Amino acid sequence: MARIVMKFGGTSVADLDRIRNVARHVKREVDAGHEVAVVVSAMSGKTNELVGWVQNMPKVAGANHSIYDAREYDAIVASGEQVTSGLLAIALQAMGINARSWQGWQIPIRTDNAHGAARILEIEGTEIIRRMGEGQVAVVAGFQGLGPDNRLSTLGRGGSDTSAVAIAAAVKADRCDIYTDVDGVYTTDPRIEPKARRLKKIAFEEMLEMASLGAKVLQVRSVELAMVFKVRTFVRSSFEDPDAPGMGDLLNPPGTLICDEEEIVEQEVVTGIAYAKDEAQISLRRLADRPGVSAAIFGPLAESHINVDMIVQNISEDGSKTDMTFTVPSGDVEKALRVLGENKDKIGYDVVQNESGLVKVSVIGIGMRSHAGVAATAFQALAEKGINIKAITTSEIKISILIDGPYAELAVRTLHSCYGLDKS
Ligand code: ADP
Ligand code: ASP
Ligand code: MG
Repeated sequence: MARIVMKFGGTSVADLDRIRNVARHVKREVDAGHEVAVVVSAMSGKTNELVGWVQNMPKVAGANHSIYDAREYDAIVASGEQVTSGLLAIALQAMGINARSWQGWQIPIRTDNAHGAARILEIEGTEIIRRMGEGQVAVVAGFQGLGPDNRLSTLGRGGSDTSAVAIAAAVKADRCDIYTDVDGVYTTDPRIEPKARRLKKIAFEEMLEMASLGAKVLQVRSVELAMVFKVRTFVRSSFEDPDAPGMGDLLNPPGTLICDEEEIVEQEVVTGIAYAKDEAQISLRRLADRPGVSAAIFGPLAESHINVDMIVQNISEDGSKTDMTFTVPSGDVEKALRVLGENKDKIGYDVVQNESGLVKVSVIGIGMRSHAGVAATAFQALAEKGINIKAITTSEIKISILIDGPYAELAVRTLHSCYGLDKS
């Protein structure tokens, strides 16, 4: 007997038929004698609809940086998961399974008060564990928690993955299965590159990079938690027949295991390609080349919670002036330009330019630590396709390249194939 946390994403619970199908997956594990907690997302499209409603409400008079009360945003967008948790509990009961729904505040899943992107601080797992011991299935609403101000909080988009891994850690589950609309983690987004291959295993560090660099198959924070708490996490499909052979395999279920790199026997140099759309580039021209300039630029941006990513600095020909170029998410450009405008005198630049609609493609693999020439291969392959590189950043296990938006798919496919990742 094992203790299993099963998470089902938005497309897996998109309508009542699919919720009944999810119930069959749960039944399989219950019938095998396991203790089960389930985490559900909202029906696909629901959270977007709720966010849209909030955004269309009138702005608070005089509000400058925040356009709405983030606590009310959370009260609204958390509701999608309340619906699916109740529906799944009913579907399970109809199959003769003892089940009940749990909202984040009922457990409680305690978070900080960063409404809209809260972090889980603590989960009170005792009652769920006790009831699982009595054979009751806990159906937990993902994405939501309870803030220190006693208000509902949400964990950021895609946050049900994090709810699931955190609950798995809290109840000391043997496994956390993330069921989604693909049957595992692929070498790149299979919707962009049909030649992408499913990975049997991927190292935590690589999955962390893939997720941070745009592969939305798992929320970044869920991978961090899985790594820290050593949660055995699988990504697998909810669309396969729940009772097909092997689906209930305890040690080797179908899908991709996220694990320590030591568990991976045949490590490739490059494991995957990720991409992130909607990047924007901002350039400050003719800055004084003196200590403190970077601090004057990036300090106020950080204070305004603007996430600056790639930074490139060029010295002018005579060495007296410098240009600073950096990227931010497209949605933050306006805010960033405003902050830079307010600090123009302190920073001391001539002009500011910006360009939106860019894409960051990234090559990821822990094998890069011990292999030279990985970056050169990417640059050569992109050059052959006439794709211009606007900025580059690298770390031990990844190379990120900024390019024009329309080349995104071509760049992903080119990089995927130049490292031999295409399936034969
Ligand atoms: P869910 O609603 O189940 O949480 P998501 O839409 O958040 O599902 O994540 C699954 C999607 O992630 C897939 O449909 C796929 O298009 C996308 N994806 C991006 N990169 C990858 C990758 N490397 N491997 C698998 N899926 C990926
Ligand atoms: N429903 C939430 C979202 O769409 C959380 C999730 O699906 O993981 O972001
Ligand atoms: Mg998701």
